Amino acid sequence: MRIAVLNKDRCQPRRCSHECEKYCPRVRTGDETIIFGEDGKPIISEEMCVGCGICINKCPFDAIMIIGLPEELDKPIHRYGTNGFALYGLPSVETGRVTGILGPNGIGKSTCVQILSGNMIPNFGGEEGSWDEVLEYYSGTSMYEYFSKVAAGTIKVSQKPQYVDMIPKAFKGKTRELLENTDESGRLDDLVNKLGLSNIMDRNIGDLSGGELQRVAIAACAAKDADFYFFDEISPYLDIYQRIKVSQLIQEISQDKAVLVVEHDLAILDMLSDVVHVAYGMPSGYGVITHPKGVRIAINQYLKGYLPEENVRVRPDSINFEVHPPRAEKEVGTLVEYEGFSKNYDKFSLKAAEGSLRNGEVLGVVGPNGIGKSTFVKVLAGEEEPDEKEMDFDISISYKPQYVVVDHNLPVKYFLRGISSKVDTSYYEAEIAKPLQLERLYDRSLADLSGGELQRVAIAACLTRDADMYILDEPSAHLDVEQRSQATKTIKRFAENNKKTAMVVDHDIYMIDMLSERLIVFEGEPAVYGEAHSPTGMQKGMNKFLSNLDITFRRDEDTSRPRVNKKDSHLDRLQKSKGEYYYY
Ligand code: ADP
Ligand code: ADP
Ligand code: SF4
Repeated sequence: MRIAVLNKDRCQPRRCSHECEKYCPRVRTGDETIIFGEDGKPIISEEMCVGCGICINKCPFDAIMIIGLPEELDKPIHRYGTNGFALYGLPSVETGRVTGILGPNGIGKSTCVQILSGNMIPNFGGEEGSWDEVLEYYSGTSMYEYFSKVAAGTIKVSQKPQYVDMIPKAFKGKTRELLENTDESGRLDDLVNKLGLSNIMDRNIGDLSGGELQRVAIAACAAKDADFYFFDEISPYLDIYQRIKVSQLIQEISQDKAVLVVEHDLAILDMLSDVVHVAYGMPSGYGVITHPKGVRIAINQYLKGYLPEENVRVRPDSINFEVHPPRAEKEVGTLVEYEGFSKNYDKFSLKAAEGSLRNGEVLGVVGPNGIGKSTFVKVLAGEEEPDEKEMDFDISISYKPQYVVVDHNLPVKYFLRGISSKVDTSYYEAEIAKPLQLERLYDRSLADLSGGELQRVAIAACLTRDADMYILDEPSAHLDVEQRSQATKTIKRFAENNKKTAMVVDHDIYMIDMLSERLIVFEGEPAVYGEAHSPTGMQKGMNKFLSNLDITFRRDEDTSRPRVNKKDSHLDRLQKSKGEYYYY
């Protein structure tokens, strides 16, 4: 079975010469495989199309997808009209459990939520749907009762949006006002306490950091009195400790409510969910939501890239983890040796131990929020002076900040070209543009990009600049698992091939694990004092970092991926007694 999907935003029939129609071999032999609709855009007949793919290549705006679907797929649950995105399957939500979705962006998660919340009646690929049809389709299944309530209009939904950076645009006022407006459950005080929000209640929403906004958004979603809660990504801008706190909170909510979560930090998805649906397909083309799977199995299958029950390969290769710490010593030169320094602000002080940074290595930087990581980086970059004396070296640094803000409206390619002409080389295309999936973004305006798209452009922009050292603050934010894996490879290869030093601040343990050769660990008390240790090997670094968090990880037998141990479980206690928090 084959579907044709037209991206109506990309399609610009006034700016092309209708190449799709002109070159379609079926049209040339006289049939009407492609005709033009009232809006001037092509309508592709899926019955007549032979799938040659010529129109895909000829369209100057990359607006057409012709997709061969896996055979097993029946009719879609919903289709956004002729040549629109098609969704197959829905996640099953159930009171008393956290249902996770694991899959790429653009695969139909929001569409699922629109349906589950009753905002949209699924049309099963036809013209218009009805709840009667939905109930008939789901009769005899676990979702029948749920949809009966949706159809009767008695399901109330609370949603946390994916991009919390947008909240200040939609709400002007203080944190307290926002949260008190949403408090239908009377749980607000408890939520404020658990999420550590008490000292920002009287601050303006517009002045909050990303991590604070994320926690406010989670509190607002949880404070509503709903039957069904949907959290679209909880981890961006939160440190591990906060991620775990939020996970525990969501589990509490799920005791007597239905909860659906989309999360790309796999260590968190793993500990948070009771079941996981894998979502696969072709982003913006079609999405398939599998039946629910056991959490461990779902994540393992996804990492391996193959879903046996569905007989579908979602990726050509598997994503792997190192069971042993990588060998730290390599024959490489030193970029810089820095002395220990301190930096005191009004209410915060940072003390950094001396260290040396090597050419060609990637250093992971780990520690809680507010512990001085950005301050440390600014001192190295020469943006801030240490208390003692200036740093006596001069290295240029290319920096990707944690919060990517767009201040102009340029097309992506134009923007990158403005940084360096190497954007037009084949090396750039192979090493940066392809793995970061930039090609489809090149013509788009920076201002129109979603969070994940902007993140990929920001990573590329950072690596495009000429510098001695590259520092990326939370590159994982808003990237899905595929994109994280690709971004990891891109950064690593970039550092190795160009003999540059890269420092990556991130809270996604999987990403830190895959990226780093050495770690710089921060400890202390957030917003009061921080201590930056010298760069150290992965084993020592992870042990120090995780012992501060009081968390141990075991290895999955099948994929060797790290999994959080239940606190005080046998393994947790055993590993702690041996001081082996990570490589066990
Ligand atoms: P996700 O939440 O997984 O990122 P969405 O459910 O938002 O995915 O969207 C999946 C696809 O459906 C996107 O490619 C989008 O273009 C398309 N889509 C979403 N909403 C509409 C709509 N109202 N009309 C037409 N297409 C839509
Ligand atoms: P992290 O990057 O680990 O989240 P930061 O280095 O951004 O931590 O901040 C550490 C602490 O220093 C925070 O409490 C922050 O409020 C404070 N701080 C950062 N920059 C300044 C500054 N220019 N003046 C005063 N305090 C600052
Ligand atoms: Fe025509 Fe289908 Fe070939 Fe496109 S893929 S050119 S619509 S036959």
